[in-house]
Amino acid sequence: MTRITLIPGDGIGPEVIDACLVVLDETGVALEYERLEAGTSTMESSGTPLPDEVIESVVKNGVGLKGPITTPVGSGFRSVNVELRKRLDLYANVRPARSFEGTCARHEKVDLVVIRENTEGLYSGVERSTGKDSAESIRIITRRGSERIVDFAMGYAVKNGRKKVTAVHKANIMKLTDGLFLETAREVAGRYTGVEFEDRIVDNMAMQLVVKPHLYDVIVTTNLFGDILSDLCAGLVGGLGLAPSGNFGEARVVFEPVHGSAPKYAGKDRVNPTATILSAAMMLDHIGEKDAGNAVVSAVAKVIMERKHVTYDLGGSAGTLEMARAIAHEI
Ligand code: NAD
Repeated sequence: MTRITLIPGDGIGPEVIDACLVVLDETGVALEYERLEAGTSTMESSGTPLPDEVIESVVKNGVGLKGPITTPVGSGFRSVNVELRKRLDLYANVRPARSFEGTCARHEKVDLVVIRENTEGLYSGVERSTGKDSAESIRIITRRGSERIVDFAMGYAVKNGRKKVTAVHKANIMKLTDGLFLETAREVAGRYTGVEFEDRIVDNMAMQLVVKPHLYDVIVTTNLFGDILSDLCAGLVGGLGLAPSGNFGEARVVFEPVHGSAPKYAGKDRVNPTATILSAAMMLDHIGEKDAGNAVVSAVAKVIMERKHVTYDLGGSAGTLEMARAIAHEI
């Protein structure tokens, strides 16, 4: 029995997590869940959006599955998602974007993985007001942070039979921070053979991905660029409803959809559960249940291809639970 920390989150989080559990149950893998709340609800009940029990549970179990959590915009508490990744040192955010037949996506046969540094950069939280009409945010880049994320990306490429890693930066303008990231990336990549390494400036990369995504394979980059480019990649394959992710640290991993809590759809049984279900498939791979993970991905592919039980974002009218049940049925 594998014990998983389950954090349903808020907004559409509880719906996509419950739908995902329908699918996980069908795989027959012996999982036990420790369900914990975080976000606005715990802020109201216990004065913190990220209770220590959540952190302790992931540390103990080593694996978590999480729904999205709302972050107040402009003011209010800081992002629970960012805080969780930092406190658990989940430094590598792996965000695959692959095409499924049956979507109305702009491109076919896209198969990209964005690996985003998850603990520093512009998400360091070092921000201050410098007067009535000005404010500043510090972008922290370290050699250690750059080294371990590029090492993770190169190792990921080797392990998963990927051919190329592209480091994305803005070292022409941010000469010190991204200069350090790029210099370190080149050094680390030089230790590997059998995987091609190249680099691109982020603005060019955004354009290239939209026009010719097939030229790319694994992308490794700093925190904010990774956040933006991974949403772009999700858009290339049919939207956020299809984009899974895993946040990897040395001894613990938390899987979650790339999308947020989409408050306007909360409680409506409308959104696509696939991003969460594919995150759970990544989790199954991680805990050594590769066959079950592959079975989930194949079932997702079949349901999307048939277009009978898909949600609004894929051109259908099925609800969240109906789509999840169709996927479970295929398993
Ligand atoms: P969002 O991802 O919640 O939603 C943006 C739009 O994407 C939605 O309006 C919807 O059109 C579409 N979408 C998202 N998920 C979908 C799904 N499963 N199926 C179909 N369509 C889907 O982004 P947002 O509106 O910018 O953010 C809302 C809140 O979520 C904010 O508070 C933000 O901070 C938070 N957020 C949390 C996480 C996380 O928990 N990891 C990630 C991103 C955003």
